[in-house]
Parts: sequence; C-alpha cells; structure tokens
Amino acid sequence: MPARMSALDSAMSQLATAVEQLGLDDGLHELLATPRRSMQVAVPLRRDDGTMTVLAGYRVQHNLSRGPAKGGIRFHPHTDLDEVRALAMWMTWKCALIGIPYGGAKGGVACDPRLMSRNELERVTRRYASEIMPIIGPEKDIPAPDVGTDEQTMAWMMDTYSAHKGYTVTGVVTGKPVSVGGSLGRGGATSRGVMFATFSALREAGVDHRGATVAVQGFGKVGGLAAQYLHDAGCNVLAVSDWKGGVYNGKGLNPAALLKHLKTGADTVVGYPGTDTITNEELLELDVDILVPAALEGVLHEENADRIRARFIVEGANGPTTPDADAVLESKGVVVVPDILANSGGVAVSYFEWVQDLQAYFWSEDEVNDRLKVLMESAYDQVSGLAGERSVSLRTAAQMIGVGRVADAHRTRGLYP
Ligand code: GLU
Repeated sequence: MPARMSALDSAMSQLATAVEQLGLDDGLHELLATPRRSMQVAVPLRRDDGTMTVLAGYRVQHNLSRGPAKGGIRFHPHTDLDEVRALAMWMTWKCALIGIPYGGAKGGVACDPRLMSRNELERVTRRYASEIMPIIGPEKDIPAPDVGTDEQTMAWMMDTYSAHKGYTVTGVVTGKPVSVGGSLGRGGATSRGVMFATFSALREAGVDHRGATVAVQGFGKVGGLAAQYLHDAGCNVLAVSDWKGGVYNGKGLNPAALLKHLKTGADTVVGYPGTDTITNEELLELDVDILVPAALEGVLHEENADRIRARFIVEGANGPTTPDADAVLESKGVVVVPDILANSGGVAVSYFEWVQDLQAYFWSEDEVNDRLKVLMESAYDQVSGLAGERSVSLRTAAQMIGVGRVADAHRTRGLYP
C-alpha cells in the first residue's frame, strides 16, 4: 500500500499549484514555503500520581507579512512539527483569503487530552504557554483553540501570560470565555461559517438546501454545531461520527438531542437510541448530498476518493482532502468547498474578538453573526469568481487568492536588508 500523503506534503503540493497558476518565481515560492519561525519546547508535566513526564510542544509562525501570526493550539497524540508546519501554512492563506490582517501560525502539544485530568490539562497548558511566551502576544502571535483545546484552555493561557506581564492582557489569545474578554458568537463561529459556505455552494449550483441530506464526520466543536445549524436551517442530517464511530438514521437525526446526550455524560454518539452504528469510513462514503469532514486531516485520500458519493464536500476540518483525492473528486464533478474558505468562520470571529479586546468595546451577538456572514459570502464569491475565470477548482482559486495576497505583501514591503 503506498504511503498516504502527509499534511505537510498536501500543503506543499497545494502551494506549488497556486504558485504555478500565479506565475510566481522560485525565490518567492521558497520564501512562501518556509516558516518564518519554528519553536519546539519541552513541556514537563507532573502527573496527578506524582510522576513526571516530558511532552513535546510546538509553535510555528509560518508568515508575518500581513500582520501578527494567528492560529490555534492543538492537543493531540499525533501532533508533530511537520503537522504544525502544515497547519500554520494553511492559516496564512486562510487569513489572507478572508482579508483579515494576520499571518498564519499553529501550535500544539503531543498529548492525549482524553487521558488527562482537568488539573493535568491546566498544568500542561500553563507550562506550554510560559514556554512559548517569548514569541506570543497581541501584537506578535495570537493563539486560539483547535483540536483538543477549548475556551477553558484559552482562559488558562490568557491568565498565565497576564500573570507574567503583571496585568491582564485579554488580546493575547482568542476563543476565550465571554466572561474574560471572549466574543459573543465565537463558540459557534466555525460551524456557522460552515453553514454559510454550504449555502453559498448549493445556491451557486441551484440546489435547495431544504431537505438536502448531510453526513458530518467529527461531532466536536466544529462538526457538532455545524450539524445542528444545518438541521435547524432545514437540511436532513443522516449521520454523524466521533472518535469511536458513527451513527446513522436514514430518516434523519436530531443533532441537538445528540449534543445533549454528550453533555449529560456520554463519551460518544455511538449507541444513541434509534440509530444504526457505522464506522467513520462508512460515513465518508454515504450517499448524501453534503459531506462535512470536520475532524482531522487526510481522511479523503487516494484510496477512498473514488467511493465518495456526496455531491458537495464542505471542509470543516483543516486539510481533510489530499491533493490525490482532490484530483479524483474534481474528475467526478464533486464540488469541494476548501478548508481555508469553509472553516474560516472561526478565525474570522477570532479577529472580531481581538479587535473588541484591543478596543475594550464589545459587540452584540447579532452584529458578530452579521459581519461573519458578509465576510464569508464575499470570500465565497471571490473564490468562485476566480475559479470560473481561470477554470480551476474552488481550492486552487482560494489558494491563489490567499497566496497571491501574501506574495503581494512581500513584494510591497521589500526584502530587508
Ligand atoms: N483553529 C482554528 C482554525 O484552524 C481557529 C484559529 C483561530 O481562531 O486563530 O482556523
């Protein structure tokens, strides 16, 4: 079996395609492919049982040409420097594509939050935050949640940073609880953005979203609310899944009830009454109108691309489709709304949160949601316009816009010295 493409290989290959389409020279290509700064730190953790272990932590700032670096922190056992590099690069193109004044970054700690107590998680977060402290800050690099982290993680990071500074610095991270400088609407922002992106794609294809069937892989922070918002808007969600597997009901599921089931103690959707159990692989291959991969990267690859039956794929996750799979899906006429567009609602509202923190002046939830809608619909129109003009996929068009704006910033600033 050939080795599947890694996230970094995928990101590099997508960059090469955009560079070729834009006609950029080799020097600029090399600059755009190279992270500006990569930090690897040791994160010693005292376990609850008194033993000590040392975890690997990372923060990569891929690009800083358009503003401070921005991107989430991932706690996952498979996190490594290459994965963080790929995710940081995608953040750069994402921020440029939606027109917010940031470069891209990502961070992570190789650990399994599911096997850690709340106290252990707090200690890891605080130690990691203090280790990367020299390179983060509201004007330098602003972390946010990602896989395995949440608003509590961000509150601990903000508190640790502020304790070192000697005063409260809310703007150092986004995705915080509203009580400590978070923004209304941030919690559901990525999912709401997935819904807007889905509707834009359906509208363009002349498909009514009401009654459209949906499968969502990853019933977490992004997929859980995306399923609920799509259901509430009239779509028919047939299947969802999490790390343990998936559930299917041909007549439709009630995502809000499933979310409640998880909130009240269940650790998986599997086994929910009135559903059939399916695997994550089976979910991806279901005969539905819309597939939302909202878990990890590389789940749609060379080997399963041909078996995908959805007409629309809306990428809630970062990097769920490898370039090999993209080619197969494109030849089958599947519309793939790419990650840097489809899941950009999260970082968009992170930007709104940072702006509110810097101004110490907070907006209503309606204002946040309305601004998000305008921003995402405008980004979609730009991407689909360019895709039509250049006869390229939505992914290539989105990458061309993102990469092109960063290349422009480089050229305009010039090279020092
Ligand atoms: N982790 C999210 C992403 O991949 C959000 C990043 C942010 O808000 O900075 O887009």
